[in-house]
Amino acid sequence: MTIDEGYTKFVCDWTECALPDLAEIAELCRWRKPLFDAGLIGVYEDIGIGFGNISVRIGRSPDFLISGTQTGHLHELAAEHFALVTQADFDRNRVSCSGPIQASSESMTHAALYRIDESIGAVVHVHSEQLWRRLKGSIPTTSEDVAYGTPEMAREFARIYRVSDFSSSGIAVMGGHAEGIVSIGSSLAVAATRILELQNSNRPKG
Ligand SMILES: [Zn+2]
Repeated sequence: MTIDEGYTKFVCDWTECALPDLAEIAELCRWRKPLFDAGLIGVYEDIGIGFGNISVRIGRSPDFLISGTQTGHLHELAAEHFALVTQADFDRNRVSCSGPIQASSESMTHAALYRIDESIGAVVHVHSEQLWRRLKGSIPTTSEDVAYGTPEMAREFARIYRVSDFSSSGIAVMGGHAEGIVSIGSSLAVAATRILELQNSNRPKG
């Protein structure tokens, strides 16, 4: 099994600039911390590649703030670690973003989820070998043939949102992305708590 995190399969049109003073930045920092502490966002030390990313929709717009590329190793994030994604063109595999850092290489997946339903206010993507192995196929799972960060993944998420309980449970396994799990919610608190509760229930009792 290959870890494919860190590849940027899409073209990122990046405008380097400071971010506006958005309240969502503090919220992202607050909810990323317990996910990092739980090992759900981090870095594969042996290959030096970060994994996991977190985003939040700005108001009711299609725009979202997302953690920047290769920030997985950082214990805490600050404003300089986020990018604002303002456009995503799935067919051209192209994302436009602005901010002090380029958006996560998985921005296309986040963009795809926000586009499915206006009520999705936040997206959390984590890696967990145990959760992935345990839940793959038993909860909504994207096809193994679909790699992350591709236009096909965008269509695949829309499909499982329609045909499974992903829209209500808010958690899906990325079948074609080793260790990859996604949660969605009306807010970051909802999306992050869903993953953290799963992680807690995965611990051995006693
Ligand atoms: Zn991933």
